[in-house]
Amino acid sequence: MNIFERMDEYDYEQLIFMNDSETGLRAVTCIHNTVLGPAIGGCRIWTYDSEEDAIEDALRLARGMAYKNAACGIWAGGAKTVVMVDEDHPKTEAMLRSLGRYVNAMGGRYITAEDVGTTEDDMDSIYQETDYVLGTSMKPGTGGNPSPSTARGVYMSIKASAKEKYGDDSLKDKKILVQGLGNVGLNVAKYCQEEGAKVYGCDINEKSVKNAEECGIEIVEPNKMWDWEGDIYAPCALGATVNDETIPQMKFDIICGSANNQLKEERHGQVLKDKGILYAPDFIVNAGGVVHCHDELYGGFDRERANKKIDKIGDEIAKVFEISKKEDIPTNVAANRLAEDRIKSVEKTKGIFNLNPSSSLNK
Ligand code: NAD
Repeated sequence: MNIFERMDEYDYEQLIFMNDSETGLRAVTCIHNTVLGPAIGGCRIWTYDSEEDAIEDALRLARGMAYKNAACGIWAGGAKTVVMVDEDHPKTEAMLRSLGRYVNAMGGRYITAEDVGTTEDDMDSIYQETDYVLGTSMKPGTGGNPSPSTARGVYMSIKASAKEKYGDDSLKDKKILVQGLGNVGLNVAKYCQEEGAKVYGCDINEKSVKNAEECGIEIVEPNKMWDWEGDIYAPCALGATVNDETIPQMKFDIICGSANNQLKEERHGQVLKDKGILYAPDFIVNAGGVVHCHDELYGGFDRERANKKIDKIGDEIAKVFEISKKEDIPTNVAANRLAEDRIKSVEKTKGIFNLNPSSSLNK
């Protein structure tokens, strides 16, 4: 990999390599940009096939965070940390604390949080070494588990999508299939039920299925999922469920859910557009979690203030639909445009001389 060429491609600011032979820490933090504020993005702990794969993941995920944070209107740039673990380098408290010290040394340019492979306990370990961490259980003013907030943002986005497709944001009598009835999915299902939607659910985990059945959700077997006919499909499990194999089988009008990277490839946005299926771009739909975590930075988590911002996610989705129609481009491309436009507009102001620029952290 030609690292600087790769960084130039999408204008990355910084790539930081961290090594601690004592604790086995081998990590990479990628800061895509800090135009809108300190770069926020989770810490992924994963076994990678190669160092190149880890760097590539950090780059891809950091840019994704920058776009998500920009599009949902928070004052944060985007970044991501990946930690390479394997049998000889397992995750330990010492490794996390070592990472915490490196994060602290970044001086607030980067703020970490949970991601795949990390837990609230892990953030508590990192918090022993730095204040630049969100999603702990113990930091004064923590907002705790962000999943219910993510679900709220998904619900707002489903309503905005219904308004776009049917001219009315009511979900009454709409048939909605939630795939993945975990922390986010089950809460999305409950919001939709409360509004009188007929909610179906699909999961591969027995416990999740049982929880859903207790809430009156009709279960669709995973192997029958693509036979399901209805109005809205809410993917809240895994990514890449929208692909060449599944799109021809789809018998619904809207895709709107929390799963990351729902489109297997970017070009599937155009395929959905051609088929007349409205796709609400995942990285804006699922931004409720980061809005929730980010709220902590402003004197401690305030649920009312966070919810106000999360409820605006529906407006952002509506803006994406507007751009898509006006420019005749797929909604995933329109979502990128929305994020890029915000970053560019604020970037311009950086040219104004300011002796003591205050970051959002100093407010
Ligand atoms: P979770 O692990 O609590 O729930 C996921 C559920 O999906 C589980 O019940 C699991 O059994 C089920 N599942 C897995 N594979 C499946 C399959 N093939 N078919 C049907 N069900 C399947 O996870 P979560 O926190 O609810 O997150 C759901 C999705 O939303 C993930 O893709 C996550 O990356 C994304 N997301 C979550 C948050 C958050 O705040 N939790 C924020 C942003 C994005």
